[in-house]
Amino acid sequence: MKKIAILGSTGSIGTQTLDVVRANEDIQVLGISAGRNIDKLEDQVREFHPRLAAVWDEKAAKDLKVRLSDLNVKIVSGMDGLLELASMPETEILVTAIVGMLGIRPTIEAIRAGKDIALANKETLVTAGHLIMPLAKEYGVKILPVDSEHSAIFQALNGEHKNEVHKLLITASGGPFRGKKREELSGVTLEDTLKHPNWVMGQKITVDSATLVNKGLEVMEARWLFDMELDHIQVVLQPQSVIHSMIEFKDGGIMAQLGTPDMRLPIQYALFYPHRRYLDGERLDFAKLKSITFEEPDMDTFLGLPMAMEASKAGGTMPTVFNAANELAVKKFLHQEIGFLDIYEIIGQSMSRHKKSENPNLEKILAVEEETYHWIESRW
Ligand code: NDP
Repeated sequence: MKKIAILGSTGSIGTQTLDVVRANEDIQVLGISAGRNIDKLEDQVREFHPRLAAVWDEKAAKDLKVRLSDLNVKIVSGMDGLLELASMPETEILVTAIVGMLGIRPTIEAIRAGKDIALANKETLVTAGHLIMPLAKEYGVKILPVDSEHSAIFQALNGEHKNEVHKLLITASGGPFRGKKREELSGVTLEDTLKHPNWVMGQKITVDSATLVNKGLEVMEARWLFDMELDHIQVVLQPQSVIHSMIEFKDGGIMAQLGTPDMRLPIQYALFYPHRRYLDGERLDFAKLKSITFEEPDMDTFLGLPMAMEASKAGGTMPTVFNAANELAVKKFLHQEIGFLDIYEIIGQSMSRHKKSENPNLEKILAVEEETYHWIESRW
């Protein structure tokens, strides 16, 4: 029996993880969590019978406790609750399906408790990769990528020697505005932005896909996960989202992983690695597909990618500023307080004013996050 806990079980990755659990009798869910969606969390507790349910919002946690008084489940709240969930004694794997930098502390807690991490929460490695990767090594735990691009690389690396990799080729759909120029982006609406051509995901990552910030975050994440220099990571647009990413080896050979856009595959692969299991759902039909096309990303229009590269090159606390500025800007965009292009403006200005510190510890990362939020709030 594989015992897991899920941080963010009510979200897009969280619910798809539970779909994988439904299809596999030998996985047991010991802990689940939500921000404040206790309607969904209550349903999940009643279906999966975890021992622990964590809710960020304290009032929502109290309400949930009343609702679930007929069941033997412990309800916890706030960061302490997330940390308790992350380090539950019997779990083997923590699925980090929470959104944002909030995922850092529970991920560290889980590693220290010896749990393998099925990592969806990319913001953790982006801002604290220099702490997480050595810590995982120290505690002998696996970081198993869930992001489809990183899972594709992880799958293609099977049986290969990491030191024979020349380049990582991370694919991108280009998002809903692919082909548009900067002038055309000024008036795009929230509704247009949330229409991703191929994937159904949470709102934050869907906006990040439209700005190409998501691709930038993925490059930064790949750098840590696969220990590659930025110069050896290339982004390739592949609008049909059929090739999930590729590796070019030193001899010029390329390995790719292909499939329909279905996050259950990388989730299931992470949970059962190194084994593969049957997964229902659509298969790629090359006769219907007919063509797979490629383009270069438009770095002059979609500034999320070049800004991420700049932050990653600068290193230290700069990736935290990039990420925190984006998190708050996207929140404001989702609340319709700012326009689409303002997201780039907020990230750009936040990075320009920041005096970076090298090799930040966790406290410094969290302090820089707070400071970035304050600075943005005082101006927008
Ligand atoms: P969603 O927004 O769909 O879900 C986020 C989850 O985090 C929900 O369970 C939410 O709870 C919970 N949450 C939000 N705020 C808090 C909080 N303050 N405290 C505790 N829990 C909180 O996000 P996604 O599933 O789309 O993405 C999750 C992560 O995975 C992100 O880092 C994303 O970049 C990454 N990812 C997602 C992919 C996808 O296909 N969706 C693909 C690859 C990576 P509640 O429901 O109560 O709000």
